[in-house]
Amino acid sequence: MTTFREFTDTCEEIEKISGSLEITAVVSSLFQRISESGCHETELPIVARFVMGRIFPDWNAVELGVGPSLLYESMSRASGISVKEIKQLIRETGDVGDTAKIALERGAAKSQTTFLDFTGAATELSMSDLFERLLAIAHASGTGSQQTKIRHLQYLFSTASPGESGYLARLVLGELRIGVGEGIVRDAIAQAAGEDVGAVERAYMLINDLGEVAVTAFRHDLSGVTIVIGRPIKLMLAQTGSFGDIPGTYAVEWKFDGVRVQIHKDGNIVRIFSRKLEDVTESLPDVVKLVKSNIHANQVILDGEAVAVGLDGKPLPFQDIMRRFRRKYDVSAMAQKIPLYLNLFDIMYLDGASLIDKELLARRERLDEIVEPAEHLRVAEQRCTDDSDVAHAMYQEALDAGHEGVMMKTLDSVYSPGKRGKNWLKIKPIMETLDLVVVGADWGEGRRANLIGSYLLACYDPATSEFLEIGRVGTGITDEQLSELTELFSQHVISEEGKTIELQPVVVFEIAYEAIQKSPHYASGYALRFPRLVRVRFDKTIEDADSVERVERLAGG
Ligand code: AMP
Repeated sequence: MTTFREFTDTCEEIEKISGSLEITAVVSSLFQRISESGCHETELPIVARFVMGRIFPDWNAVELGVGPSLLYESMSRASGISVKEIKQLIRETGDVGDTAKIALERGAAKSQTTFLDFTGAATELSMSDLFERLLAIAHASGTGSQQTKIRHLQYLFSTASPGESGYLARLVLGELRIGVGEGIVRDAIAQAAGEDVGAVERAYMLINDLGEVAVTAFRHDLSGVTIVIGRPIKLMLAQTGSFGDIPGTYAVEWKFDGVRVQIHKDGNIVRIFSRKLEDVTESLPDVVKLVKSNIHANQVILDGEAVAVGLDGKPLPFQDIMRRFRRKYDVSAMAQKIPLYLNLFDIMYLDGASLIDKELLARRERLDEIVEPAEHLRVAEQRCTDDSDVAHAMYQEALDAGHEGVMMKTLDSVYSPGKRGKNWLKIKPIMETLDLVVVGADWGEGRRANLIGSYLLACYDPATSEFLEIGRVGTGITDEQLSELTELFSQHVISEEGKTIELQPVVVFEIAYEAIQKSPHYASGYALRFPRLVRVRFDKTIEDADSVERVERLAGG
């Protein structure tokens, strides 16, 4: 059995070191100890996710559903310290983990309970028990569910030591951030299980859960990992390119201005996943119907872009399509109001066989065979050419139709899940925007005093999973948007001090700017000139935000 204490001891050890090789070695030895204890089938998946600060597999629709206020209430009940005092502590320490630790230390003298097992020894929280509790918290629903969640959390805080409570609080809020990202866990799995890193990576791209990959690696069965219908695979991504990059023949397609969808059809069951690989099936009954009636294959995984079109025949703004994807009620009315057009451009699996290792044109042939085009469904037109005039003409057509530009794809390329490579080049006219995570904000002034007015932005450092600040944005936001954003962010407030708010990093903004400059003022080392909000990227996770390396490249560094 692995205890939560062993886990938090490892977290502490990791926080004292900084080199990723060293961190990988520590994580790897934790994995090894778990494997030697014989509990790897049950505990490795939990630990492999927890070290990255994630509780459930990425592809799973389960969410913990615990925000700061629920957490503070549970900490208050476990420690006997009032919520007001806890909020004060948050302001002083600026960190929910330190706050939990201090609150529980102070409370230990007063009200913390020590639970005993049947032998009379103090109960130690095991990783499996902790996970079961978190699962129960996630599954609590309906009336009284908030109280149920609070009670489970109160139990966990009461059972954990103050030091463990700090890590628990950070984990629950999705803010563990000990500097362990996917790359480190991937390498640690390979090291601990004595497997090839490439094989671990490949398995991860296909099943999308490093927890399960870890168990499979210890079973030495990575080569047996295959695509599972119903479980999203990582999407192939595109790199920015230009027409000058065409050395030979490319397949040119419109770059549709819509929302990416990955569609799984298994007999009569259809599931649709977003770019974040979240299950969005319930919001898209019209797409489900279309797939059932017009895709002639028993089992299939498809890639495409859903576009919403306005009365003028042009694609609707991204925000409007996202309204379709986030809708949980009155779904059919919304489907009528904002009908979607599905443009399919790839196929990854067909009737029992993976197609990802087949070449682009071979995949396209299969796609054409199984799709029966309809008004709202088509296979994206593709023109194979080595003539940049032809590609340019198609680009102009796409722009005239209100789309973003073109994609140029290498004819013999395989489908590489999760890879951003030269095989898919995107060509767009506008200056590259940045996708940045909102980590803080300020209340507005005067007329806008009740609205959050200015947002602190950060780019992502994949090596450490940290967010590095790069500037603020207050421009490009309408009053209506401001109140929507204020409502959205009010659920993610960690602490407030005067006008300044610290926010959980959950939302990604797409930001346009005039230039990127070096700046000692922000942790990233860069600042944006004239930043402007283009749109809220509800479809992106915080890990999808632009990296500091990309900022550096765009800055010409
Ligand atoms: P970006 O989001 O700017 O990195 O551009 C890549 C995105 O373009 C993909 O994730 C798709 O959502 C979208 N896209 C639109 N049309 C196509 C297409 N024909 N092939 C591939 N991706 C496309």
